[in-house]
Amino acid sequence: MEDKLMLMIPGPTPVPEQALLALAKSPIGHRSGDFSKVMADVTAKLKWIHQTENDVLILTASGTGAMEAAIVNFLSKGDRVLVGDNGKFGERWGDVCDAYGINAERVKAEWGKALDPEVFRAKLEADTNKEIKAVIITHSETSTGVMNDLETINSHVKAHGKALIIVDAVTSLGAMNVPIDALALDVVASGSQKGYMIPPGLGFVAVGPKAWEAYKTANLPRYYLDLGKARKDAAKNSTPFTTSVNMVMALQVSLGMMQKEGLESIFARHLRHRNAARAAAKALGLGLLADDASASHSITAVVPPEGLDAEKIRSVIKKNFDIVLAGGQDHLSGKIFRIGHLGFVSDRDILTAVSAIEATLQQLGYTGFTPGAGVKAAIDKLS
Ligand SMILES: *Cc1c(COP(=O)(O)O)cnc(C)c1O
Repeated sequence: MEDKLMLMIPGPTPVPEQALLALAKSPIGHRSGDFSKVMADVTAKLKWIHQTENDVLILTASGTGAMEAAIVNFLSKGDRVLVGDNGKFGERWGDVCDAYGINAERVKAEWGKALDPEVFRAKLEADTNKEIKAVIITHSETSTGVMNDLETINSHVKAHGKALIIVDAVTSLGAMNVPIDALALDVVASGSQKGYMIPPGLGFVAVGPKAWEAYKTANLPRYYLDLGKARKDAAKNSTPFTTSVNMVMALQVSLGMMQKEGLESIFARHLRHRNAARAAAKALGLGLLADDASASHSITAVVPPEGLDAEKIRSVIKKNFDIVLAGGQDHLSGKIFRIGHLGFVSDRDILTAVSAIEATLQQLGYTGFTPGAGVKAAIDKLS
């Protein structure tokens, strides 16, 4: 059957019809008064979802563009930074730093484990000459479904006093509480195809006052991703270059929907879905890559039982049920599958995915569970 594809991956995420309709409209001029009104409204809504009074700038770029902007605008060649690296996206932060000649010291943890805040504390405390210019971390590590302890690591950065904290919140913003002003986070990057419930194409960077101070002396090359230019134009409800006007209009719709739902309800929904997905996996005798204490609210990485290939499960569930789950990346390929429950996902979607996983496991001859056990466990957590 056509048009029944169900995305349960951590991006791109499902898009509500109201937002799709905004994408289908004729574009309007990006310098028009009408578009300025849209920009003004979208900017106010972005500040709401970021829980900040500071700037939130829109880039026509994927999330990695927002990450790169978060580096090139605030750091200089040779700067010493600490980079949290416990998965694909932590690794990417390090790669971006390397590309610009930044001296990036990786603070590593095994894939599937959270970063240890104590390591950051020790390195920051030992830095009495205040050479560390930034601590860069991924809040929700999408490749493993691990949530790093942003609050504790940030508290060590604040104790250091000099370093900026630069955060990839791509799969946490709009899903989990990321109170930017309350935590005084300096730079926070995110992308449209994740919690924002619209397709890929826009990146967002929230920038605080301390980061703008660093901007003045940062000497890395920048042009398209120059956030100073973006800020100047944002003050006039505009953008330096032709932005994806339809995407911005779709964003206005999706953020409006999110405001109606309310931040607390959105966070509670993601937590509920995380709990349901994990309970279902356990009830089916499947393993979980992340432990309970550090499990992301938006992605659940599942370890199939011995003898069952994760890629086989993914291909059968896709073929039989048109449900797309994400695979493992790099050395975790074939070892895990990941359920995305991020953005426009309802309780019904969770139950559908869990029952399809059960049916798929049965078809593959796996008998390690009582039929219905996963669905029952999920229902218990959803109600
Ligand atoms: C999706 C994602 C990104 C951005 O990736 P793009 O493909 O460039 O949009 C960055 N960080 C995390 C944690 C992500 O999940």
